[in-house]
Amino acid sequence: MAGGLIPIDEARAHVLERCPALSPVRADALPGRFPASILGAVLGADVTSAEDVPPFANSAVDGYAVRAADVTGASRSDPVSLRVTGEIAAGSSGGCDVEVGGAVRVMTGAPMPRGADCMVMVEDTEFDGDRARLDGTQSVRVLKAPNVGDGIRGVGDDVCRGDVVFIAGTSVTPAVAAVLASIDARTAMVHARPRVAVLSTGDELVDDGSALAPGQIRESNRSMLVGLVDQCGADAVDYGIVRDDEAVLEDVLRRAANECDAIVTSGGVSMGDYDVVKAVLSRIADMRWMQIAIKPAKPFAFGLLTNGHGVAVPVFGLPGNPVSSLVSFELLARPALRRMAGHPESAWDRPVVNAIADQPLKRGRDGKVHYQRVVARFAADGRLHVESVRAQASHQLAATALANGIAVVPDGDGVPVGGEVPVILLVT
Ligand code: AMP
Ligand code: MG
Repeated sequence: MAGGLIPIDEARAHVLERCPALSPVRADALPGRFPASILGAVLGADVTSAEDVPPFANSAVDGYAVRAADVTGASRSDPVSLRVTGEIAAGSSGGCDVEVGGAVRVMTGAPMPRGADCMVMVEDTEFDGDRARLDGTQSVRVLKAPNVGDGIRGVGDDVCRGDVVFIAGTSVTPAVAAVLASIDARTAMVHARPRVAVLSTGDELVDDGSALAPGQIRESNRSMLVGLVDQCGADAVDYGIVRDDEAVLEDVLRRAANECDAIVTSGGVSMGDYDVVKAVLSRIADMRWMQIAIKPAKPFAFGLLTNGHGVAVPVFGLPGNPVSSLVSFELLARPALRRMAGHPESAWDRPVVNAIADQPLKRGRDGKVHYQRVVARFAADGRLHVESVRAQASHQLAATALANGIAVVPDGDGVPVGGEVPVILLVT
């Protein structure tokens, strides 16, 4: 590896090994009304249903409950007439049975009457008589012969009592939350969303809207990192800009370690003389300062800062250059935070798809893997095609901001037009 650089896989393994999933907690301990309160969280234990869903056999259609044998061969040209003896609405407890030669009108979701073995949907019938007042004189013509079981949703069709409905590691999507409601789960074990402190460092940074003094720039990484943290299923906590001052930085880091499950810093991890982050973290945390064989985002630091409760809190020291910060977060912090949030390994990373380069992805040999930002789109050939966002320097965030993919270009002469390249899709 060129000049003592370490491979990205080694850096990633080092980080992931030190970022185990946070212990699951009972959902009651979290604020908000269950199960909406756990949307986006990951289940920390299997969920077993104590109920059948549906709890009773009911109609899947608006129509008539009949005995299939009574209407064998019914068709539009040769309908079969049945006497309508009752009506059951959703929410009613039933009560009227279907007799031989009879039919009961049943609404969607209402319990099936005894005696019936199928439903005929209303569209396949014609009603005779006064719809408003059922008095036993009305009849219905069945225009299509049903089969036994048609239009009936059986007990436990969706979930049976005793079923393991969701296994640990399942993400609580809106539909998963609804299923928890459908089985009357009142609580669940979940991994709380990790709280992640985000802070920027550097005396040149301003974010207060003031005119820029010579040498100053607008702070931008925090907005991006807060968003990236939230996007990956953790909760960002903004600790602002911290001056290049050792005492101030130490104080903020210690506070963040007491209040959060992980810390993401930007800036101060490269070789500069004023890299105060390096000075402070080297002293107070167990750090590894890395030079990774990638471009951008070569400098990266990772370590554990033991907080006031004796908990070792992961610290991700991202480089300050905005594009490097983004790539570093994507490759190293994101999978680790997903792991901490309880996601199974298959869900730690963004999807990677082989794409066709519509323009050359140029690079020279330098012993590093290049992560080139691209715009990716599926074309008429069903393949993913990519074009470079052009400006690829690590300070040129405006071009990278429009990328929806990162092409992984191995060491070598780049990818020619029509060549294949793996692309990390910046979608979840
Ligand atoms: P550093 O990693 O601190 O050496 O910073 C590398 C480059 O990124 C410098 O040009 C910094 O001014 C710039 N930079 C550092 N932090 C930020 C930030 N939060 N927002 C925008 N630019 C930054
Ligand atoms: Mg700096």
